[in-house]
Amino acid sequence: MALIVQKYGGTSVGSLDRIRNVAQRIKRLKDEGNQVVAVVSAMGGVTNKLIEMANELSSDPAERELDVLLSTGEQQSIALVSMALHELGVEAASVTGRQAGITTTGNHTRGRITDMEPALMQQYLEEGKVVICAGFQGIRDDGLIHTLGRGGSDLTAIAVAAALKADLCQILTDVDGVYTSDPRVVKDARKIPEISYDEMLEMASSGSKVMQSRSVEFAKKYGVVFEVRSSLNDNPGTIVTEEHDQMESVVIRGVSIERSQARVTVTGIPDTPGMSARILSCLAEAETNIDMIISNIAHDGLARHSFTMHSNDLGRVQAALKPVLAEIGENSQVETEAGIAKLSCVGIGMRSHSGVAAKMFEALGAAGINIGMITTSEIKIAVTVEESEIERAANVVHNAFGLEGTPGKLNPS
Ligand code: ASP
Ligand code: MG
Repeated sequence: MALIVQKYGGTSVGSLDRIRNVAQRIKRLKDEGNQVVAVVSAMGGVTNKLIEMANELSSDPAERELDVLLSTGEQQSIALVSMALHELGVEAASVTGRQAGITTTGNHTRGRITDMEPALMQQYLEEGKVVICAGFQGIRDDGLIHTLGRGGSDLTAIAVAAALKADLCQILTDVDGVYTSDPRVVKDARKIPEISYDEMLEMASSGSKVMQSRSVEFAKKYGVVFEVRSSLNDNPGTIVTEEHDQMESVVIRGVSIERSQARVTVTGIPDTPGMSARILSCLAEAETNIDMIISNIAHDGLARHSFTMHSNDLGRVQAALKPVLAEIGENSQVETEAGIAKLSCVGIGMRSHSGVAAKMFEALGAAGINIGMITTSEIKIAVTVEESEIERAANVVHNAFGLEGTPGKLNPS
């Protein structure tokens, strides 16, 4: 008998039919002799609808009340899933975040889980019941209802799996797993059988969003191995786990793309200590989300900084830079470029293989695709290209690393 924690996202419980489908799947696991805890999101669209209503009533809804409001979405779905199970003759009990013993801390609507007391869930499991646990919610250390940030049901599932020492944790969603690239863009993209936490995090931060990043970090911290798979079929998914030696034989695990990026370059910056800090802290205060940062010294001895960001943030970045520019003086100028996109190659194999960047740039060059900015981390190489070229670029790079064939081996060339 195994203890299995599953998480069903909003799409998977998006209608009563889908809820019946979820109940069938849970029943099957139970009939096979397993103990099952299912963590459930609000029905698809419900959380957004609640936020819309709050914003219609108030220009600045109190976050305490938002938490009370948003947590109701999951409370609906856990009760409905339990009822669907009862209809199938399966004993099931729903639990809210409080009843699941999830303690959180932090600001309203952005809770972090600090402790788990799963006694009630354990009792229900011992009584032979299936437990249906509300995702995305907990009780703050001061006793108030708390939500965990958008997509937070993933985090609940990982935390519940850790607390119950589950044998298996499955994140069931509307895709079959994590792919080598976006299958809508790269026709040859394949499902990745196994990926390390770090690769999953890099892919998520570079545009391949399958799960909430914080929950992947949490899983890494507590060593929770989990599988991302579809709630609509029985295909095996992608296992997300600690890295091991064999993983490094694959150079590139995946190619992610992120569209709608923009670049801002500030030129004519005096090459003196503290200037970068001054510029970046202005951007941080304006709560703009900067992605790539590149700085260098031009031939005139003055520094230039380039940043990329989502194009929605471009206006805010420009506004935030105004006061700094005034300080820097007349030599400084700002250039902007919208309509760019980011292409990232991710793989822990990069640590032990050389020539990865060269191969990526050669492939782009041979296809006549111009590279804008370049940044790297230990396991990622990212470049910007014209947005109109991003789909071709993704295909060219995906091909160059043979990702459609033997997973990620460097082509013999
Ligand atoms: N219902 C919440 C949201 O839509 C949490 C979740 O679905 O994971 O963000
Ligand atoms: Mg959701």
